[in-house]
Formats: sequence, structure tokens, C-alpha cells
Amino acid sequence: MISHAQTLLREIFGYSEFRGQQAEIITHVVNGDSCLVLMPTGGGKSLCYQIPALLRKGTAIVISPLIALMENQVAVLCRQGVRAVYLNSALTPEAAAAVERRMLAGEYDLVYVAPERLLTVRFRALLQRIPIALFAIDEAHCVSQWGHDFRPEYGKLSILPEKFPQIPRIALTASADARTRADILRCLDLHQARSFISSFDRPNLCYRITARSNSRIQLLNFIRSQHAGEAGIVYCQSRRKVEETAAWLNSNHIPALAYHAGMETSIRTRHQKKFLQGHGIVMVATSAFGLGIDKSDIRFVAHLDLPKSIESYYQETGRAGRDGLPASAWMVYGPGDIIRLRSQTESGTERLPAPIRQAAAARLDALLVLCETTVCRRKPLLDYFGEPTGSLPCGNCDACLETIPVQDVTIAAQKALSCVYRTGQCFGMEYLIDILSGKRTDRVRQWGHDCISTFGIGHELSTEGWRIVFRHLLALDYLVAGEDRAGGERIALQLTSAARSVLRGETRIKLRLSHHHHSAPYQQIST
Ligand code: ADP
Ligand code: ZN
Repeated sequence: MISHAQTLLREIFGYSEFRGQQAEIITHVVNGDSCLVLMPTGGGKSLCYQIPALLRKGTAIVISPLIALMENQVAVLCRQGVRAVYLNSALTPEAAAAVERRMLAGEYDLVYVAPERLLTVRFRALLQRIPIALFAIDEAHCVSQWGHDFRPEYGKLSILPEKFPQIPRIALTASADARTRADILRCLDLHQARSFISSFDRPNLCYRITARSNSRIQLLNFIRSQHAGEAGIVYCQSRRKVEETAAWLNSNHIPALAYHAGMETSIRTRHQKKFLQGHGIVMVATSAFGLGIDKSDIRFVAHLDLPKSIESYYQETGRAGRDGLPASAWMVYGPGDIIRLRSQTESGTERLPAPIRQAAAARLDALLVLCETTVCRRKPLLDYFGEPTGSLPCGNCDACLETIPVQDVTIAAQKALSCVYRTGQCFGMEYLIDILSGKRTDRVRQWGHDCISTFGIGHELSTEGWRIVFRHLLALDYLVAGEDRAGGERIALQLTSAARSVLRGETRIKLRLSHHHHSAPYQQIST
């Protein structure tokens, strides 16, 4: 079988060898077995179902949530001579009907459909009448409410195992923490199926994250000193900042183009083409840029603003160094980013149930830990994707390569941990910070916590400073988030056995805290 697959790989897709687990996955699916494929963006997930689609009898049905991506993939396949087509809301009813007729006649190897179309009674009836090679569920994390991209129609894909139990299902995603993964297995009934989990580590990427002082100058220095004359992407949050930054780079003799959704399509397309074909051009863009971009020699991705999640950060930085040669992921951030993201997270999840709001808050915390960590950057990054981090430190990130200014915050950590202990391990972070900062809120008074020994002992740090301390105690497993037994909405923090050594002063806690997190002068040391 694998020799057939190899032939297709060479003759249709033009590649000489399978990458990573591709061959194994393809053999598995061709044999008619279902599986979950967790592979980073750019890892080569598509071939894992495209080749089985060609090797198995019948038509493969690919469920994909993004119209643009669908059209792009189909166009590429058609150019390679594969009989592929898509069915989505962009087609007229007549065109869709024509596609359905040809489907019945068995004229396609692959049909890409949007989930809402798949769920219609009409389409399902059509599927009952034709031989189906497999179902590929792309972006499978969309089934989960815990993920960052929940789509209700995806949740209904449980009809696939129910109505078509014999057809192999291959669920693919680049982002799934343990909870999301469990949801995918449940929704698509893949408990008996194999999971293929690839590493998310990108060893050739050097991660650097620094506090923002003057971001333009910092960017210019970074490009000039490390990537002069090389192609890169600079991400900004706002369209205006995109345009201003591109103009600024150009005025400093760095050829730059702008790209954002507010620009005229023809200009956007022209800029994209120039960037893809040119050499040493810097694309300054919003997150609208990059989906489906296939340029292997992008040498750096710079972020002038914090992206909205670790997923976005990973995906955007992942566009650098696809050729495996050294590349940089560089970012500046400041307190403004944290305020912006917190308010976006809160307003975006305001009407959702408490556990989902907490999951969103925890995702934001994970991103902030990545920024503030004093250990290898790969630790929080790979932790987030549930990957073992045994081989760290990496030797290829700022924390590993440079001496970073850190502060010993053991005393603050001890205060935080004692406060958790004294209040019975029943409360969430914000409430505990109120106590430490000596705020006599109604809730504090109700519980009588204005009379305990840890009330008001934490004036040395600002609220954000305390959040950093708590976030790290969580990230470093001195605290765990349990259920809130005091009836509030936040998760209750509880001590782990490791917390004892911090309380006894046997373990020192060091963090990257900047001046604005202090309410009073704090000693600064270096490691
Ligand atoms: P994903 O869906 O995981 O993000 P894609 O399937 O789009 O990744 O593949 C990313 C890029 O890698 C594409 O340009 C694809 O053609 C290329 N690719 C995939 N498999 C191989 C391979 N075995 N050898 C070389 N290039 C490959
Ligand atoms: Zn490192």
C-alpha cells in the first residue's frame, strides 16, 4: 500500500518523501481505520486525508469551516489533476445542484463541504446513495466549547459516527489541549481510534519576548541587527498601526508592504504576491494575513502587540522558518496589551457560563505566563499544547541565551500562599488580591477576612503585580485551580505539596517583574 501512496506523493504532489507521521497515518486510514491527528500548522495534515481519498474506493468528504481555505485547497488539487470540488454558501443553488449531480455520478475523489451543508437532510440523503471513502474533519477543535474557536455546527458532527459508523473518520487539528481533545474523541466517537500526536516544537525558531519601550525603534534594531535584507512578517493589532509601521520601515530603508482587511482587495492581493515572490520584503499586517501563506524562507515574525492567544502566537510565529533554517519569533508587549486582552476576553465571554469564562481567562493567563516566564520559553509554550518538556531548556530562546533581569519575589509568593491557606483554599485570585491589598470590600467583610493576619500585608505590589505572582504560582504548580467552594464564580486556588517548600523558604521564586508592577520600591537582582 505504502508504495502506492509513495507513487501518488511523487507524481501528484511532487514530493519525494513523507514527513513525520504522514506515512503511518495514511496507512492507517487507507486500511479503513479512524484516527485523530494533532499536528502543528504547516506540518502537512492535508496529505493525510488527500492520499487515502485517492487510494480508497468512493468519494472523500472533507468538512472544513473556512470557505477561503476550502477554495484554495480545491484550486491547488485541481491544478494537480485531482478531481476535487467544494460545496459552500458561495455557490449559487444551480451550481451546487450541478455539483451534487456529479457527486452522484461518482465524478469526484474529494468533496469539501461546510459543516452546515453536511448537516442538511438533503445532503445526508445524498451521502447515503454514494460510496464514501472517508470523512476528514479539518479544524476538529471547533467541536469543543473549551477551545478558542467553538462552532455549534461542528458540535453536531456526532451524526457521522451515528449515521455512517463504517466510514473511517479522520479528525485533524493544530490546536487541542487535553479537554478539547477529549471533546473531539467524544463527539466523533474516536475512543477506540488511534491518536497521532506530532511534536509542536519548532527547534529552528528562536523565541524572544521583551517589554515594550519604543516599539518602532526596538523593531528597527531587531531587523537591522539580526535580519537585514531578509523576508519577515510584522504583526500589529490595528490597521492604522499597520500602515504607520510599514511607512516607518520604508522611510528607514527597509522595504515594507502593508496588509489588512480594510484595504482594497486588488491592493492586498498585489502586496501578497510581491511578498511571496520577492526577496527581503517585510510584510506589516494584521492577523488577517497569513492563512494559507506558503513561503518557506520567512526569516522572522515580529509582534508589536500581543496576539489574542497562544494558539494565534504559535500559528503566526510558525510561519517563520518553514524551510528548517534558523528563524526568529520576536515580540514586544506591555501593560496596555494585558488590559486590552483582559477586557476583550471578558466582553467576549460575558454571557457564557462560568466554566467557559474561566477557561477563557485561563487561556489568557497562559499567554501572559509565556511573556513573563524566566525559564525557557518553550516550557509554557509546549505545556500549553500538552507536550512533555523533558528535553528543555532549549538553548534557543532569550531566556536560555541571555541574562534576564529577574527579581526574587519569594516573600510575596509566601504571602500569597499563606493567604490561600488562611482563607481555607476556597477563593479565587482576584478575591485573594483584595485581601492582600487590604481592600475592605463587602465580600471581604462578610467572610471576616479583614481580620486575618494576611489582610493588607501586600502593599509592595500593584494588583497586576500580584496577578503575575499568582499566575506563576499556578504555572509552576505551587497552586492548583480547584472548584470554587465558596459559591463565587472564580476558580478556588489550592496549595500543592510543592508549596510547602516555598513557605519554608527552601525554594526561591524569581520572576520578571517590571517597575510598574510595584507599589513600592522592590529590590532588583539578576541571575
Ligand atoms: P497543515 O494543514 O498541517 O497546516 P499543509 O497540509 O497545508 O499543512 O502542508 C503544509 C505545507 O507542507 C504545504 O505546502 C504542503 O504542500 C507541504 N508538504 C506537506 N507534506 C509534505 C511532504 N511530505 N514533503 C514536502 N512538503 C510537504
Ligand atoms: Zn529556551
